[in-house]
Amino acid sequence: MSEETKVIEIPVYLTVRELAQLMDISPIDVIKQLMSSGIIATINQQIDYETAAIIATEMGFEAREETPLVAEEADEEGPMPLWERLYAREEPDKLLPRPPVVTVLGHVDHGKTSLLDAIRRTDVVGGEAGGITQHIGAYQIEHQGRLITFLDTPGHEAFTAMRARGANTTDIAVLVVAADDGVMPQTIEAISHARAARVPIIVALNKIDKPNAQPERAKQGLADAGLVPDDWGGDTICVPVSAKKRIGLEDLLEAIILVADSAEIKANPDRPAVGTVLEGRLDRSQGPTATVLVQNGTLRVGDALVAGTVCGRVRRMLNDDGNPITEAPPSTPALILGLDDVPTAGDIFEVMRDERTCRAVAARRIKDDEAKVTMTVRTLTLDNLSQSIRQGQAKELNLIIKADVQGSIEPIVNSLQALGAEDLKVNIIHAATGNITESDITLAVASHAIVVGFQVTVDSAARRMSENEGVDIRLYDIIYKLVDEVELALKGLLEPTYVEKVVGRAEVRATFEVSKVGRIAGCYILEGEARRNARARVLRGEKELYDGHIGSLRRFEKDVREVRTGFECGVGLEGFYDLEVGDIIEFYVMERES
Ligand code: GDP
Repeated sequence: MSEETKVIEIPVYLTVRELAQLMDISPIDVIKQLMSSGIIATINQQIDYETAAIIATEMGFEAREETPLVAEEADEEGPMPLWERLYAREEPDKLLPRPPVVTVLGHVDHGKTSLLDAIRRTDVVGGEAGGITQHIGAYQIEHQGRLITFLDTPGHEAFTAMRARGANTTDIAVLVVAADDGVMPQTIEAISHARAARVPIIVALNKIDKPNAQPERAKQGLADAGLVPDDWGGDTICVPVSAKKRIGLEDLLEAIILVADSAEIKANPDRPAVGTVLEGRLDRSQGPTATVLVQNGTLRVGDALVAGTVCGRVRRMLNDDGNPITEAPPSTPALILGLDDVPTAGDIFEVMRDERTCRAVAARRIKDDEAKVTMTVRTLTLDNLSQSIRQGQAKELNLIIKADVQGSIEPIVNSLQALGAEDLKVNIIHAATGNITESDITLAVASHAIVVGFQVTVDSAARRMSENEGVDIRLYDIIYKLVDEVELALKGLLEPTYVEKVVGRAEVRATFEVSKVGRIAGCYILEGEARRNARARVLRGEKELYDGHIGSLRRFEKDVREVRTGFECGVGLEGFYDLEVGDIIEFYVMERES
């Protein structure tokens, strides 16, 4: 039927080969068509629906997006998580108000945990005082007949780590500032993290019971950081509280309801549930358990769901007081039993029509995860920004600035902001003093930002994470050089220079014919390592026979990312099968010259 109408259903993303198969034409023709649209792609490269649809249309097909049920992998690509996309498709008249979900942020020891505990104890409807309350990553309280959900893992690290995984759980941030200590470095960080997530901030000025509390001084610090308190004529609600003496808690809850009401926090309770896994645990007696936050729809006992690559059916469900419940409407945290395995925190869960569908989706995700091993994920770099500006795609540049001293920040921020134009905005997501840390990288991942350091270094954990996540870090010692380079990138003029670096050498010790794949070399790694993402060169004596991509890298039939010195592996080269015993395969990467 599809041949008659020439309609093809295209998933959110697929490889060039898969697209060719859908259209029943040669991949070469697809590659040619892509090239004429200015896109250089290899046969195994993933392309997105939009690109595929353009190519298909140009080749005489009518493209339709495949049912979103199994299209969730786009989460990796776009900043909009699955549940938000589904939510965006909701008809407005189906949306009803739901409780706000609140996260508590702030500097260490300013009283985040104490405040969360104190608020929990204000709840008269929930468990009796002294009753056993379960820690399930979130709790709900009732205030004047209205529910509020609190995520009880405080801190911006956890908050942004969730966002970096595509989960967007929070509606309102409560920023705790100790009145005796004022605005501190992590307060500034927390403000930037909340702002980057476009979450409204309410300030809880804590510890006002202390004799040395200086609330006005703290407010000055907040105003300097751009949060002008309401009683100073600004629009940041600032509530004086004491978590210890239980002062001002009602006012704080009042403020939360006020902000929630102006933010139109809604969901459709009348649809299958979608939400985020807050925690996963293996319980000795109960098996895998997960605490989830339902964000849209209603979760019910008996529902089949998939969370990341974990499937199951909700056998039992408990609320935050440890009581069994049969359904969980939007913004409800719940502990669920009945999953096959422990899901990962931050994964999005979704109810499907039956367990079979769940398994199909999970299987597809596992397959895609394996395929992703072969892709270098690069979120955003100054170089590829330049490229996408040339192609007219980029609309903004998000930057995180770290500098050695406060005095450097202002001129850098001012110069960079001045580079922005109407159609190309420069957003400084966060600017602070200090070395580049993991927290900066997490924020960069969550906000698709580049990290710029001025006379600072990079923590080793941050370096590792930036490499894994593909975050670009640029370090400078001279302000004008920093500004010049960003300016060049914004003008689409930055041409990166690359140098070759050999990462490993292997000797071919045997060759095998593998049907459909061609000849595979059984290799021994002589030095360095073989990397799946590297390029390879085949040397026979003095002669170079091949220079190109690696088709496969395997150990014991399993695709692997890398193989180290002294180990054996199977190597397949893309389009080159003339391997012989004794050949040397040299693995190399192109590194950006700094
Ligand atoms: P967190 O690191 O932000 O979670 O801070 P904690 O909740 O662990 O609190 C740090 C310290 O401040 C603890 O010793 C608390 O007892 C104390 N603290 C928290 N809130 C208050 C308060 O309102 N008044 C006073 N005096 N001490 C507080």
